[in-house]
Amino acid sequence: MRILVINSGSSSIKYQVFNMPKTQLLCKGMIERIGSNARLSHKEGDKKALEKRVEAKTHKTATRILLEVLTDSNYGVMRSIEDIGAIGHRVVHGGEDFTESTIIDTTVFKYIKKHNELAPLHNPPALSVIKACKELLPDIKQVAVFVTAFYQTMPAHAYLYALPLKFYKKYKIRKYGFHGTSHRYVALQASKRLKKPLEELKLITCHLGNGCSITATDEGNAVDTSMGFTPLEGLVMGTRAGDIDPAIVFFLMEKEKLGSKAISELLNKESGLLGLSGVSNDMRDIKKEARRSNDRAKLAIDVFIYRIKKYIGAYIAAMNGADAIILTAGIGENHPFIKKTIATELSVLIKKLGIKLLIIPTDEELLIAHDTYGIIKTKK
Ligand code: ADP
Repeated sequence: MRILVINSGSSSIKYQVFNMPKTQLLCKGMIERIGSNARLSHKEGDKKALEKRVEAKTHKTATRILLEVLTDSNYGVMRSIEDIGAIGHRVVHGGEDFTESTIIDTTVFKYIKKHNELAPLHNPPALSVIKACKELLPDIKQVAVFVTAFYQTMPAHAYLYALPLKFYKKYKIRKYGFHGTSHRYVALQASKRLKKPLEELKLITCHLGNGCSITATDEGNAVDTSMGFTPLEGLVMGTRAGDIDPAIVFFLMEKEKLGSKAISELLNKESGLLGLSGVSNDMRDIKKEARRSNDRAKLAIDVFIYRIKKYIGAYIAAMNGADAIILTAGIGENHPFIKKTIATELSVLIKKLGIKLLIIPTDEELLIAHDTYGIIKTKK
């Protein structure tokens, strides 16, 4: 069965088509800069990539273009669009309503919409694309795979903030966690590698990309994670600050005369590795500068690693042990010095507890294809 996986962003749509259950990737592509100067790039096996400007002012038009390219006689992987068995959508926020992936019907659509406020950049475009798919392919089943769903097993003592409880009740202010699809995928892969069922493992998975998060998974259930109410909490990231004393926010707002939008920009876009190093948000550039003895670049790396180390320690304590620490995503997979430093700096703990340290590439799209295929198969 051909499964189309769609990841909708505020100005882009990324897609992949898998042949399931073989898990064979047939093609992938993206339409970016939706709104003005949109561009399509599409790649299929060894064929030359298709790159062109497209007229996509809205997510709806972009969806039509993407469906057309899949059946293009020169590039398409399908003869007819009806060859798509199902569509799996990455949906960022399912709030407390979704604990697992689910077929999208009108009720599910409404529930996703309810959480627009919690993921204003991600849920609305996903809904536009789901709606467009429904109009263009009314008979094809669509599945929502929620980034937050994996964290719905977290206990209240882990997801509650120590604010007056009425704000949890009134606004659902709590830790939701993000990157759930990536953490779940690498946890499953780790269980295969360690040849032990997930139900018998305590895992600490570190997703280190532009966004970074750590998750503790005990017996297959997420028990804690570093991202919170929003993806701003936790580790030092490319441009996000991660954990800070919230009083710094009021202090800076007053001293620098910043409004809420400006302080949000500062914490989300000007902080993290970029803010500390003054070089870049990209680990490759920072490492290059650090090798040239740029002290700020070195400091940025030190702060980045120290925060990871602290969270790993906290999660070993939270689970009363760990079988493996897994590193994944752009930085986790491509910068082996992170693994080496963790191995050295946590050598006593790792040795005493017999913790394995693994690098496992993530593949969120494949997990979405798996979930979608699994749900469609059981509903048939
Ligand atoms: P995103 O979170 O946007 O998906 P990535 O997972 O690609 O991003 O992570 C981006 C980070 O990973 C950057 O800091 C970059 O330095 C690093 N990175 C990504 N790919 C590579 C690579 N092939 N070689 C070295 N570093 C990489």
